[in-house]
Amino acid sequence: MKYYSLNSTKNNAQTSFEEAVVRGIAPDRGLYFPNQIKPLEKEFIQNIEKYSNEEIAFKVIAQFVNDEIPEPVLKEIIRETLCFDFPTVAVEDNVYSLELFHGPTMAFKDVGARFMARCLGYFNRDKQDETVTVLVATSGDTGGAVASGFLDVKGVEVVILYPSGKVSDIQEKQLTTLGKNITALEVDGVFDDCQDMVKTAFLDAELTEENLTSANSINVARWLPQMFYFFFAYKQLKAKNKELVFSVPSGNFGNICAGMMAYKLGLPVKHFVASTNINDTVPQYMATKEYNPKPSKQTISNAMDVGNPSNFIRIQTLFDNNFEELNQLFSSFSYTDKDTRETMEKIHKNSGYVADPHGAVGYLGLKRYQQAEPNTLGVFLETAHPVKFLDVVEETLGIIVAIPEQIKAVMDKEKKAHAIKNYEELKSYLKGR
Ligand SMILES: *Cc1c(COP(=O)(O)O)cnc(C)c1O
Repeated sequence: MKYYSLNSTKNNAQTSFEEAVVRGIAPDRGLYFPNQIKPLEKEFIQNIEKYSNEEIAFKVIAQFVNDEIPEPVLKEIIRETLCFDFPTVAVEDNVYSLELFHGPTMAFKDVGARFMARCLGYFNRDKQDETVTVLVATSGDTGGAVASGFLDVKGVEVVILYPSGKVSDIQEKQLTTLGKNITALEVDGVFDDCQDMVKTAFLDAELTEENLTSANSINVARWLPQMFYFFFAYKQLKAKNKELVFSVPSGNFGNICAGMMAYKLGLPVKHFVASTNINDTVPQYMATKEYNPKPSKQTISNAMDVGNPSNFIRIQTLFDNNFEELNQLFSSFSYTDKDTRETMEKIHKNSGYVADPHGAVGYLGLKRYQQAEPNTLGVFLETAHPVKFLDVVEETLGIIVAIPEQIKAVMDKEKKAHAIKNYEELKSYLKGR
């Protein structure tokens, strides 16, 4: 297996896993994609409950790592990545929450960030003076997960760009308080401005010496481990003997794309729903077949405030750009903040379950699909712990959310960030270090 750039063709697949991880994005600006995807043995999938999460993860990721990391090292990376639980919790008949927030920063991005950091650490093992700079734009949760995942990784400097005033207090603390090899840049703008600056930096010939890479879900080492969750959910729910539907709260569409990769590996899934807030580029595309990226709008589910989702092109590639085939397996629906709050209240009132705004959007998309398919077993991904959106959750539900230990630990620390206004300031920061 080799990777190729989606701005090129499959026949030109020559990129190793290592190169794809270290570069993040191809020199021609395309996203990397594997030139083949080998389904896993049926025997394994049929007996999945006999395997530990670590064994499952190894089977799932091995072909994409391509023997470039020795088996014992890869197993250790997986063990360190998966040091927490991924429970499915019954919310209603046929509706489960897949809780992905039990990691150190309490959002699902911990898995991808921890896995990528350790792969990069392995690839840097023999480099004495050279450093790689991980440049990452965050709409909220990526920053904290990347900061925590990459803290103290040898040979890696992390620079996080976040939109000033548009992430929650807890999110801001998680990405601005660790120090050491982690630097936060507070951008006077919205998430798209941060993302555009990162993209411009990768294009900038004057920055090639900085060895820039990306820890956004464009990086294959952050994107692919997200396949694990879907297998873990299947393992837990298989005995119910029902057709599975996943609804994934989506922003850059990396997580749902990983789910659809899992499907291509043979995971039995009936349907995927990409649930979004009013940033509805993909729901609009599925309705009109016209793809019109737009500037992002701010919502209470801010980790999904993305107007031009980077990974949608990978989803289209998985289906050979065949709209009809994609449409069979995939739907996408958009919800307002008002819908989201009403749903958080409704779920809480009916079942006592506290959903965060992203989870509530996922629930809505799932219920919409299940109207026509009530006998399916639905799983919505709870991508963040409610405490990460404390104000919205407490105000909407009229409850007090207990603050978990790993969050308390950052709340008292002092924020350190450099304010920047535009690309020139980012560039002079990167060159001036
Ligand atoms: C990042 C994030 C999302 C969106 O995930 P994508 O892979 O970008 O689609 C959804 N919910 C939360 C809480 C997130 O942090």
